[in-house]
Amino acid sequence: MADPECLFCKIVAGDIPSERVHEDGEVIVFRDIAPRAPTHVLAIPRRHVASVADLGDDDGRLLAALFAALRRVATDTGLADYRIVTNVGPGAGQSVFHLHFHLLGGRPLSWPPG
Ligand code: AMP
Repeated sequence: MADPECLFCKIVAGDIPSERVHEDGEVIVFRDIAPRAPTHVLAIPRRHVASVADLGDDDGRLLAALFAALRRVATDTGLADYRIVTNVGPGAGQSVFHLHFHLLGGRPLSWPPG
């Protein structure tokens, strides 16, 4: 169910443009508008889910689809080392409340993140 106020639901619908690098029946992967690394894409479910905190016990297939899409983009991009991260809640840096996994790569990545 789409949320009419949600930025990423509008990207799913095509009402806001995005540079898609992968899409399938459940998942879209598109380039982050403000990249923090040479490769920085976001994998989102087509269905509106606000964050990991709102996933259900029966969402395993969706998570598998998200990670399969990210793995495919990383492989196609030639990345061997990369980071996949998701922020849950504003205090952790979440600014868009539609579940998304960041894939960052193409430069050294320090640990821990801030
Ligand atoms: P987060 O802060 O973890 O919620 O991540 C949200 C991400 O969405 C940020 O990295 C933003 O740069 C990115 N973003 C916001 N608006 C857009 C957009 N229209 N197209 C692509 N990425 C976006």
